[in-house]
This record gives sequence, C-alpha cells and structure tokens, in this order.
Amino acid sequence: MFAKKCEISERIQKFEALEPRISPNHPIRPTLLKEYKNWLAGYKGEKSLEFHLSMLPDKKYLIFHNIRLLFGKYFFQIDFLILAAAFALEIEVKNRTGEYFFEKYLNQTTLKVSGTHERIKNPVLQARLQAMKLKKWLQKHNFPEIPILHIFVNSNGKASITAERGNEQILRYICNSEGLLEKISQLANCNKNEILNTKELRRVKRLLLTGHTPENFDIISSFHLTYKDIVTGVQCPKCLFLPMDYTYGSWICPNCQCKSKTAHIKAIYDYFLLYKPSITNSELREFLHIESPTSANRILRKLDFTSTGTKKGTIYFLPRHN
Ligand SMILES: [Zn+2]
Repeated sequence: MFAKKCEISERIQKFEALEPRISPNHPIRPTLLKEYKNWLAGYKGEKSLEFHLSMLPDKKYLIFHNIRLLFGKYFFQIDFLILAAAFALEIEVKNRTGEYFFEKYLNQTTLKVSGTHERIKNPVLQARLQAMKLKKWLQKHNFPEIPILHIFVNSNGKASITAERGNEQILRYICNSEGLLEKISQLANCNKNEILNTKELRRVKRLLLTGHTPENFDIISSFHLTYKDIVTGVQCPKCLFLPMDYTYGSWICPNCQCKSKTAHIKAIYDYFLLYKPSITNSELREFLHIESPTSANRILRKLDFTSTGTKKGTIYFLPRHN
C-alpha cells in the first residue's frame, strides 16, 4: 500500500505557476520551458510506475514516493522506496528516450539520442548511492539492519538498454517498468528472512514520513529573475489571457469576454507558489489588480484561509493539506 502517494511535486507546480507569467519574448523562456519539460517527463515516468506498484500485495509492502531525507548536511531524495519486513528496495526512475549504454570501464553511461551521445550519470550507481545513504540514515535512527536493495527502472517505452561486453552484471540492477513486478517478486524470493515485525515496520514508516522534508525551491531566484519579470494579474481560464478585469465581483477577459467569479483563486495560489505562503490585503490587490480594499477583503474572507492580525495588518496563510 502507498504510505506516501505519487503526487506532483511543488517544484513542477511552481513551473506551472511561473510559465504563463513570463512574457513570450523573455530570454529565460526557452531555458525555463526546457527544464519544466524535463521535470514533468520525470514525474510522468514515476506516475506510470504507480499503476504497476499498486498491484503489489497491500499487506506485504509499504510504498513511498519521493522521500527527501536529511543526512549530515545534505538531503538525499528517493524516487520510490518499497519497504517490506525482509528488505527495502530503492528505485531510481528515468523517463528518457534514447539508447542507454553501460560501459565496462569507469562504469560510465551514455545515452544516444538522435545520433548524439550524451554522457549521463550512471542511474544504477545513483540508485546504489541513495541506498547506501538510506542504510546510514536508518542506522543513525537505531533501526534493525535490513538488506537495502536498489534498481534503476526505465519507464520510457522508447528507450533501449544495453551493456558493454563484460559489464552484463549491471543489467541485474535494471528493469523496464513492465518488468518491475516480476523483479520485485524475484528479489522477495531471494530475501525471505523477515527482520522487521509489524511494530517496527510501523515505526520506520512514521520515521520516514516525519523525516521527509519537502524542498524549498525558490524558482524566481533560481532563474535569476526579479519580481519585475513576473506578469501579475488574473489569467483567463478559457483563452489564458493575462490580466482579466475585475468588475462588480466578476472577472471579465478583455480578449475573449469570458466571465468568471472564481478565476482569482488560481492566481492567489500562483502567488503562494512564486512568492511566499502568505498574503496581505494590499499584496493581493497589487497582484490581482484590484483597487478596492473592501473587495480584496471580501475575496480573502470567502477563501477561508487561516489568518493572524487584525484589520490592515491581517496576514492570510496558504492552507496546508497534510
Ligand atoms: Zn479569455
């Protein structure tokens, strides 16, 4: 069963909030779109594994998607972690098209895409490294030692994988998504000695979930943008025009005349993602292009956010969903 569900990361949500708010001819746009596409493809690959993993017996396996843990001074992130009484399995997922080639010497990996070779990080070694970190992390939390296995799963149906002669053993740590269940059952057959009891499994689950620290990715500074680069206002849900006009409690699109009473909600969430997880009346007016503090107040009160302070000093907070 999923102890931590496969959900879209906040990083991708930030890309989605930023993209429509960067003007079409801004020089950062191509880089921004390229990175967004890469992260989204990665997520889609992970999401596609969810279906296979959901077929694992509920009682036997705990599945965690995207766990980020602090070890020493640094964080490490695991795409999927499968936990059973006898072993844990660390899964590194890649969703890239092309031909993977695992070289014998130096354990180098290349990916050939439309005729060009690109040297990439060896995903099996990446998985192994994360598994080692997890092992140390569990040791640090005084946990009984269990085998921590690792594999790289290729989730892309258009990718092919080969290993150089003499390096075929690496293929044991690789599978395609459609072969994942079989791989897990093979690993379970080789690791039958149940080490963790139900209570310990529950404890490690709690430990992982409380140890998980979502990243705090500041998308604006990471692309060296300033607030002046961000187009403010409410986006039309129909034709995506920015900004809509606010008249008598409704948002009207000057481009397609679409009328909406709720289009501002997405804009406020964009604000939370791009700037900070709180907003005041005057910040709301500036971002949504509303003149009247009373209208802004009405909008904020209707959204039922938690708040601190009174009158002009009221700060409204992003609701937390966990
Ligand atoms: Zn429109």
